[in-house]
Amino acid sequence: MSEEFTVYCLASGSSGNAILVTAADASLLVDAGLGVRTLKRLLEARGVAPSSLSGILLTHEHIDHVKGAIPFARKYNVPLVGTSGTLQTLFAQENRDAPHRILEAGDEGGIGAFGVRSVPIRHDAADPTGFRVSFGSCSLAYATDTGIVTPEFREACRGTSLIVIESNHDVHKVQFGPYPESLKARILAQNGHLSNSDACDLILSHTEEHGPVCVWLSHLSEVNNTPRMALNYWKKRFRAEGHKTSPAAVEVALRDVPSLVYRTHSQSVQLALF
Ligand SMILES: [Zn+2]
Ligand SMILES: [Zn+2]
Repeated sequence: MSEEFTVYCLASGSSGNAILVTAADASLLVDAGLGVRTLKRLLEARGVAPSSLSGILLTHEHIDHVKGAIPFARKYNVPLVGTSGTLQTLFAQENRDAPHRILEAGDEGGIGAFGVRSVPIRHDAADPTGFRVSFGSCSLAYATDTGIVTPEFREACRGTSLIVIESNHDVHKVQFGPYPESLKARILAQNGHLSNSDACDLILSHTEEHGPVCVWLSHLSEVNNTPRMALNYWKKRFRAEGHKTSPAAVEVALRDVPSLVYRTHSQSVQLALF
């Protein structure tokens, strides 16, 4: 039996992040950094009723990832899923809680029809994570807002159909750009954000070890990057390494509007009935 596995990028960047994953009749969100009404509209336009979501996976409590999380979870009775550090900090900062389920970094659990692994990353938040979301033979590895590609995330990318990885900035643009020195240091720190170069390092090492893959460069900075710059950086890198054709299908997620859609089919074994 074959069922469609679809990933939609609804928004990706410092003004809001949300990824919708659907498979068969099931769906979930990774981050909810848009307002409730916007999320509702974007879900319904894709045939997903807000109350039918199996959960909202939260990477960390920064506003661009959680703006609509609590009101959405309360209104539609959908559980927020995250580490205890993320959820406690979020509930404290908004002074109210919501239906939730704790999934600590490194743990795996079933969220509706999906298998979800919470993957340790490094960022200046309480207890941030990336995620690996799987359904049948399909999966997605997701990490934005991390200063380094952790060994755990590298491992989570193994065998995935789609890697969504942060490509926040061009290092030179940060260094010579308008930000105050303290903010530059924060962005470039081990618990800051990944550069175009960091994202390319991951793609190249992953494809060398595991073969072709589909990648979305995401969470681009408005000030220190552009979609063209991120993509050109990638093209330059794979040419410099002597590849004639790209070992990866690399696309760029846009900041403020829904952009990329990834579709594939999950093969699941149909058991013969006797
Ligand atoms: Zn962010
Ligand atoms: Zn953040």
